[in-house]
Order: sequence, then structure tokens, then C-alpha cells
Amino acid sequence: MTRMLMIGPPGSGKGTQTERISSTLGIVAISTGDIFRHNVAAATRLGREAKKYMDAGEFVPDHVTNSMVRNRLNEADVQDGFILDGYPRTSGQVDYLDGILSEQGNSLDVVLRLDAADDELVRRLLLRATTDGRTDDNEAVIRRRLDLFHTQTEQVIARYSGRRTVARVNGVGDVDDVFDRVLHAISAVDAPV
Ligand code: AMP
Repeated sequence: MTRMLMIGPPGSGKGTQTERISSTLGIVAISTGDIFRHNVAAATRLGREAKKYMDAGEFVPDHVTNSMVRNRLNEADVQDGFILDGYPRTSGQVDYLDGILSEQGNSLDVVLRLDAADDELVRRLLLRATTDGRTDDNEAVIRRRLDLFHTQTEQVIARYSGRRTVARVNGVGDVDDVFDRVLHAISAVDAPV
């Protein structure tokens, strides 16, 4: 049973590494970005609300994101564990997740932080813009997303660092090599998978 967070700046490869962890270790992945994108594609009310923020590189407001995560974490398939990709990203989301987990009598086992320098991230995201067609991969929006990571999500990392070991992984290099580092970092954490 493992409850994990995957935290990293946009373009760090957290989605790719989360999928690898999920398929190799059999842990259900929950990506808030993916849930929003599915809702945008299906033109749901949540999708219409989220799209205006996503396209501008802003965070979807906490009350919207938090209740979506609460609903997902109450589903049957994640009662034995999960890896959250891209949540929490704000201090308010950390408080909210703490609340959900304590109501459930659960706690986190691993907080993984994937690192890469801003120049490398911008380069990767501009490349992804030419292949994936994400509406939030253009330079101005990329800069805003990086800004939010530095001003808000780094506080999230600081809060978890104060409580427990944050496993820090260098996200630069071949996807397989990064994944080896991820597995190594997970196994080195106090509460192993
Ligand atoms: P991602 O795929 O993780 O890069 O997320 C894409 C976009 O979805 C972000 O730029 C935000 O607009 C939105 N989003 C995803 N996760 C969150 C979150 N935890 N809080 C607020 N907005 C989020």
C-alpha cells in the first residue's frame, strides 16, 4: 500500500514518470491536469470552468480543484493507494489534502520531487508544443506556469520537507535513466513501497 505525491515543475516529466510508476508498481495514478483536460475535451461544466485558467497558465481555483480531488480520493480503486501527479500545488491544497487523509485515517508514504532547470523546462515545453498540441504550451504561458511553480509550489515542497523526507530526483536525462533514479529514491525512503 503506497500513497505518493509526484511534484515537479511543468515539463519536468512528472506525467511520464507517474505513468511508469503506476504501471511498474501497480499504483493508481491520479493526474489533476489529465482530469481537467478530459473535462475540457468532454465540454463538461468543470471543463468549461477550468479551461480559462489552464489556457492562461493559471491555477484552477483551489475550491474547484480540491473538491474534484476529494471525489476522486473517495473512489474504491484508490483506497489501497495512489500516486497524485500535480496535486497539491498550493499551500491551501496541502491543508485540504491533510484534511482528507486524516478523515480517512491515512497518511502519505512518499513525496517525490522531480527537478530540472528552467531553461531545460522551457526548451522541452516548446518542443512538446510542436507535437502534443496542448493549448498551454506557448512561451508566455509556459513562463507563467514556471512562475507559479516557483512562487507557490516550492512552498508546498518546503512544507513537506519540514515533515518528512522529500525524495529529490534529477529529472534531466534519458526517461529510463530518470525512472531508475525514481525507483531508487522511492526505495530509499523510510516507508518503502
Ligand atoms: P499539468 O498537466 O499538471 O501541467 O496541469 C495543467 C494545468 O491544469 C495547470 O497549468 C493548471 O491550470 C491546471 N491544474 C492541474 N493541477 C492543478 C492543481 N493542483 N491546482 C490548480 N490547477 C491545476
